[in-house]
Amino acid sequence: MPIVQVALDLPLNRLFDYEAPTATPEDVGRRVLVPFGQDEKVGVILAVNTGSDHPSEQIKPVKTLWRDVPALSQSDLGFLRFCSAYYHHPLGSVVLNALPPGLRRISGWSPPKRLAKVVVPEAVPFPSLTPDQSLAAETIRAHTSGFRPFLLKGITGSGKTEVYLNAIQHRVQQGLQVLVLTPEINLTPQFELRFRQRLPAVPLVSLHSNLGEKERVARWLKAQSGEASVILGTRLAVLCPIPRLGLIVVDEEHDASYKQQEGLRYSARDLAIVRAQMLEIPIILGSATPALESWWNSQSGRYQLLKLSQRAQPGAQLPRIQLVPSPPRHTTQSVAKPVLQALQHRLERAEQSLVFINRRGYAPVLLCSQCGWVSECSRCSARMVVHLRAHQLRCHHCGEQRAIPRHCPECGNSRLESTGDGTQKIEAVLREQFPAARILRVDSDTLSRRDAWVDTAAAIQSGDVDIIVGTQIMVKGHDFPKITLVAALNVDGSLFSSDFRGSERLFSQLVQVAGRAGRADRPGEVMIQTAFPEHPLFNALYEHDYEGFAARELEQRRLAGFPPFVHQAILRAAAENASHVESFMAEAVQLAKPLAEGVEIYDPVPAPMARLAGKTRLQLLAQCTHRGRLQAFLTAWQTHLFAIARSRVSWVLDVDPLEL
Ligand code: ADP
Ligand code: ZN
Ligand code: ZN
Repeated sequence: MPIVQVALDLPLNRLFDYEAPTATPEDVGRRVLVPFGQDEKVGVILAVNTGSDHPSEQIKPVKTLWRDVPALSQSDLGFLRFCSAYYHHPLGSVVLNALPPGLRRISGWSPPKRLAKVVVPEAVPFPSLTPDQSLAAETIRAHTSGFRPFLLKGITGSGKTEVYLNAIQHRVQQGLQVLVLTPEINLTPQFELRFRQRLPAVPLVSLHSNLGEKERVARWLKAQSGEASVILGTRLAVLCPIPRLGLIVVDEEHDASYKQQEGLRYSARDLAIVRAQMLEIPIILGSATPALESWWNSQSGRYQLLKLSQRAQPGAQLPRIQLVPSPPRHTTQSVAKPVLQALQHRLERAEQSLVFINRRGYAPVLLCSQCGWVSECSRCSARMVVHLRAHQLRCHHCGEQRAIPRHCPECGNSRLESTGDGTQKIEAVLREQFPAARILRVDSDTLSRRDAWVDTAAAIQSGDVDIIVGTQIMVKGHDFPKITLVAALNVDGSLFSSDFRGSERLFSQLVQVAGRAGRADRPGEVMIQTAFPEHPLFNALYEHDYEGFAARELEQRRLAGFPPFVHQAILRAAAENASHVESFMAEAVQLAKPLAEGVEIYDPVPAPMARLAGKTRLQLLAQCTHRGRLQAFLTAWQTHLFAIARSRVSWVLDVDPLEL
């Protein structure tokens, strides 16, 4: 009787045997429905054997073996095995999560009656490339076989997308498939449109989580069958089966949203590189401000650097950057006078402005000036944010909501103040200043509705808006040619962040923000409101000098012993009861010490958000200059961690963490 070895989505490092009378080796990679305890679960067959190490009376038969969709290939499974081993996440959980949700249903899968219609826009011919673009495109085309990572570093507006399109066309003509990753769901329609304009005959599917379940499976199957030549998607697309994959493009490769921050904590950019390496194909990483890890790889010769140093459109200039002193602390003014004046000028000339502020809501805190009470979340070590529209205090970490109190809960004072600025407050300030202006706020609150972004982008494109008040959602690669002024408020917090990646993030954010200004024929202006105009970060920004900035940051990281000069992993644990998580961590340290040859083990410390959603959180850092040694340590350590695991403590290993 054939016995199948099945991967199940469980927090356990093992596979499960079942009887499957009809199974053949062809069924490896297929879905099965199996009994599990009182339940049924969907699993994936990883091996078909003739026997089992378990006593036969313990082995139950599979309920259904589905052959309705193609099996995952050996190559797909090999890649998923790597993900599981590298991120120290159970294989079953990795394999099941690589399937779209529609294929994980115990009720099975039935195809949709109708697929979403594809609107094919009018074709737009390829522009003649700039010299920089030609050189980059030719270099990529000239590389005909084998693994090669290209780092395409191009200033905003330099036309990186045209270089991608050129390389994609070349690969598709050879009968190969191409995977294109973007960091943000909202960026996929824009890329899709440009792609269809250039290459209307090439079949493309986009894959992201904002799709109906059936639609998503149908698109996934088109990638897996090879029917789709181009697969465009957010980070989850990196796990999609693509049998004739011949090129990978990672746009905005520095973007932190490539890292999944829960469950399987993978970096889609890093996995894309591994996948390219396994398949021996080229990969293009594109950015105006590469991650320092990637930049370092290009400096040390591991990645081939391709530069675009000019804006692509004739006459388009980089914006002028100006630092504006923040209004003095003791005033309640949020927007400095020169910024207001510049906004006024844009209104007079019927041009658009973007006011960038990276905090949604009205104001960060509600405060009692009599007794010092502040609006803290009861379940997190965080302050609740005032949302005036909804008359609520909201915790941005756990989602807790409360009505705004009328009186101070401590002393009864009825004059509570809100301090600090959020998008809603800036919106209110600007409405008062410019009553006739059409002001649009863009943040995750206004974009919570599905498709909200489409309407928002259309309103901005058509010029129905004068001033946009937006968070970083507005910052990423969108093309809004009517914006000629960008003002960034409230950036100082990130200058002195305790996270060693704080200044890297701020720099790239400000470069991206600045890139929104004056992309077309109109020159752009950028104003940054700060109390620290002397800070070297601003100087580099002012000079449009990413390379100088990167060199200084890397030198500091080398001296301080931070990535990319060391490799890190963090054990994160949480429990309702503080003593449970403390004793788990104490044991984890004891277990780590004898295994830690050459690996530095730090003491457990509270997470930056020490309490979240009612749970106490601790973390423990392990680091090593040698990646392989860290990996070997993690493998050994993890086995012990499973042995001491207890039900009340949840824990996870975060390999190459982006947040300490
Ligand atoms: P990036 O992604 O590097 O910021 P894009 O690829 O979005 O830049 O290009 C910026 C703008 O320049 C777009 O409007 C694009 O259509 C235009 N563009 C790109 N390449 C050329 C070219 N060779 N000639 C004319 N316009 C170009
Ligand atoms: Zn009070
Ligand atoms: Zn909270």
